[in-house]
Amino acid sequence: MPPRENSGDQTSAGMGTAPCPAAFLDRDGVLNIDTGYAHRADQIRWVDGAAAAVARLNAAGYRVFVVTNQSGIARGLYKTEDVETLHRWMGDTLRQFGARIDDWRYSPFHPEHQTERFADKASWRKPAPGMLLDLMATWPVDSGASFMVGDRATDIQAAEAAGIPGHLFAGGNLDTFIADILHAQSGATP
Ligand SMILES: [Mg+2]
Repeated sequence: MPPRENSGDQTSAGMGTAPCPAAFLDRDGVLNIDTGYAHRADQIRWVDGAAAAVARLNAAGYRVFVVTNQSGIARGLYKTEDVETLHRWMGDTLRQFGARIDDWRYSPFHPEHQTERFADKASWRKPAPGMLLDLMATWPVDSGASFMVGDRATDIQAAEAAGIPGHLFAGGNLDTFIADILHAQSGATP
């Protein structure tokens, strides 16, 4: 679904409420194993603890957003509709495990392919912060309490450009990783 349309029916619950902290999650290499240009449900292998991590964030009062570069669209490997269908499936699947993704953004842009067609999403391609900034403009986000998790330096750069900390996930159990971040953010002592 196009981001703007997608956000339209979901923001009503958030509008008029106090800003919430948000967790911005990269997709490939964070929620699912990065096998390269995955665009169908049968290509998705969930990272250990992915659903539990999202549910943990939900329970802690965080909005959960996915921000993902999908240059496979500009490269002609798959279409916008494929990504949107996949994201609906991922959201539905996570929901079955009590985990809620609040909103999704993806950038189809790549600087060497179909640049004119996707020019409006160039600033959304990480390391640029466009996807995060668009979500911050759409939802009432407490950016001072928010963070990003990604598996590449470009994720961290996008986070920092949006004014939030970025945490580099090197694999393993995502729920353990997120729990450690929340623990540190809460200021609690071990
Ligand atoms: Mg990634």
